[in-house]
Amino acid sequence: MPELPEVETVRRGLVPVLRGATIDAAEILDPRLTRPVEPALVAAELVGERFETLNRRGKYLLFGLASGRTLVVHLRMTGSFRHAPAGELPDDAHRRALLRLDTGTEVAYRDVRRFGTWELLDDGHLVVYLSPRLGPEPLGRSFTGRRLTHLVAGRRAPVKAFLLDQRRIAGIGNIYADEALWRSRINPLRPAGELDPDELTRLHRAIRAALRRGVELRGSTLSEYTAPDGTPGAMQHEFHVYGREGEPCDRCGHPIERTVIGGRGTWFCPRCQRR
Ligand SMILES: [Zn+2]
Repeated sequence: MPELPEVETVRRGLVPVLRGATIDAAEILDPRLTRPVEPALVAAELVGERFETLNRRGKYLLFGLASGRTLVVHLRMTGSFRHAPAGELPDDAHRRALLRLDTGTEVAYRDVRRFGTWELLDDGHLVVYLSPRLGPEPLGRSFTGRRLTHLVAGRRAPVKAFLLDQRRIAGIGNIYADEALWRSRINPLRPAGELDPDELTRLHRAIRAALRRGVELRGSTLSEYTAPDGTPGAMQHEFHVYGREGEPCDRCGHPIERTVIGGRGTWFCPRCQRR
């Protein structure tokens, strides 16, 4: 599932393709993408729009349009974009939308599991849409150690579950939560509100380091995810714990263990990340 580094890689890949481009034709092939709004309605609204900005907030892509509206895209499990000169995109049974740009480029949206969403928001509606859904950006300037201390205060949920809650911190998913906890040597079952100041300092650094490394390596490709030019990420070659049950810990050699927290597979080193 794409997390902050994967979504950021998609954003960076699309910026040079979309900047200033106008949509000449739009097809939305899957009603699930835009529901409850009719896909043909959204497609008709997109034709003639020009892309002005492309930002990211958490795992959301925010396509700023010349009319002032924003196309808000969430890739969920398996959404991805591909672009190519018109007519050169390969056939794809999992294509859900296609945009033809006045630059001669086509941009396709592909989604095997079909949980991704496209929502067209009117000018001024973006903040209202995002603010109840998302906590601070973990790579942003406002995400300080002190901010993290405030965020965990009184939280009794396991720190793993806390990290996955987008309303607390935006953009972290299962991979980067496990990797950040390993880097900070914190057991994923520890109640978030019981972490001491040293642990919070380590966790704050580890969250940022794990996400930054993910962005540098253009995300992790496990099954579906690729950058918009079709290239895979490389972060999967650097996982310290995620998916590595039984393999030796990179720090101490003890076998990595897997458990389930809040319904999510969780990998950790029981020696480095003692309770
Ligand atoms: Zn270890």
